[in-house]
Amino acid sequence: MLSFWEKDQLIDFDFAVVGGGILGLFTAFELSIKYPKARIAIFEKSMYGQGATTRNAGFACFGSMTEIASDRRKWGDEKTLEIIEKRWRGIQKIKNKLGSKIDYETYGGYELIFETKDIDSQLNETNRFLFPIFQKNVFSIAVDNLRRFGFSDEVKQLIFNPIEGQLHSGKLVLALHKLLQNKGVSFFSNSEITNYQSGEKVNFSINHQRELSTTKLIFCTNALAPSQMNKVVPARGQVLITEPLEHLKFKGCFHFDEGFYYFRNVGNRILLGGGRQLDIAGETTISPDLNEKIQLDLNSKLHQIISPGYSPKIEMRWSGIMSFSETKLPVTTQISKNVYYAMICNGMGISLSPIAAEKIADII
Ligand SMILES: Cc1cc2nc3c(=O)[nH]c(=O)nc-3n(C[C@H](O)[C@H](O)[C@H](O)COP(=O)(O)OP(=O)(O)OC[C@H]3O[C@@H](n4cnc5c(N)ncnc54)[C@H](O)[C@@H]3O)c2cc1C
Repeated sequence: MLSFWEKDQLIDFDFAVVGGGILGLFTAFELSIKYPKARIAIFEKSMYGQGATTRNAGFACFGSMTEIASDRRKWGDEKTLEIIEKRWRGIQKIKNKLGSKIDYETYGGYELIFETKDIDSQLNETNRFLFPIFQKNVFSIAVDNLRRFGFSDEVKQLIFNPIEGQLHSGKLVLALHKLLQNKGVSFFSNSEITNYQSGEKVNFSINHQRELSTTKLIFCTNALAPSQMNKVVPARGQVLITEPLEHLKFKGCFHFDEGFYYFRNVGNRILLGGGRQLDIAGETTISPDLNEKIQLDLNSKLHQIISPGYSPKIEMRWSGIMSFSETKLPVTTQISKNVYYAMICNGMGISLSPIAAEKIADII
């Protein structure tokens, strides 16, 4: 039985966003700008989100040189440029809006190159390709840092990107919560949307119990997509972090093998992730377990390539669940009357989410 107060204020909304990850948070923010008087609520099934946003690596990146080359082969030049332009705009939006609150640092990004054949022509070609977006050459060879960083001799070259950034993903979520509180957006934790019926008003259930309604329902649930989105597949990512190191020799974001491996400094720790390509079938899952084969591979990359002179102790390991669609572009689509689904795709959701959220607010 409801109280008068509940009935008056707490069961009907203009916009109900499902999922409190970065995309749900930015979507609610964009809606609050566009409709300042609207009643907007986010419903998150865990306490503060449990998919990818608080479990990622915190790179604010738009793609390494070999990854961009691979994307061009898979999706063609036009789509690849479109994705990079969106990522870059998203990064700037995050940096300008929240930078000082989320430990945003621009130490730059580096790609580790193991085979230098044709490297100069690849570099020139990538810079030429990206020129329309950045109006300057973005990538260069970082000769001086190659040995200073202390990587294995297998690393023959470093490609430097001075505008790549990094941030603290936990602080990003807190900063977005604060922003939303100031805009009057409600955040309901431990509130799983378990059922909905579309129509002029969308009725939906929370935790199989409470019945609520909204004018628009927007799923930002990443891999836990509504059944209509059957082409969205989950993709688990694995990460580890070391103890603090007294003499860490590098700062910045690092990538190798077309972005399949990534590492960075977090203060004076090393965070390393990737290796999904070693077991694509096994990693197509929403299970939060760790994959032993991949974790062993990450150990060996850490000890043999990144820190060959000293084997740092690994303090924590975790996984997170991304989702992939047919291309790397964000998906924003209406799935039934007044019900929408949005997803930002692949391993670069931080940079894409502010832009995808703008699009959702537009189509709604
Ligand atoms: C290991 C790893 C490393 C990564 N590193 C980076 C990186 O360095 N840089 C980068 O840009 N990107 C990175 N990513 C990708 C990035 O984290 C994701 O693209 C992004 O966080 C996705 O955000 P989201 O809001 O769409 O999804 P999520 O953060 O997964 O949020 C979806 C939320 O929906 C909730 N939910 C689901 N179903 C329901 C329901 N029925 N009712 C209520 N709530 C529900 C879930 O609990 C979840 O909290 C990484 C991802 C992983 C896994």
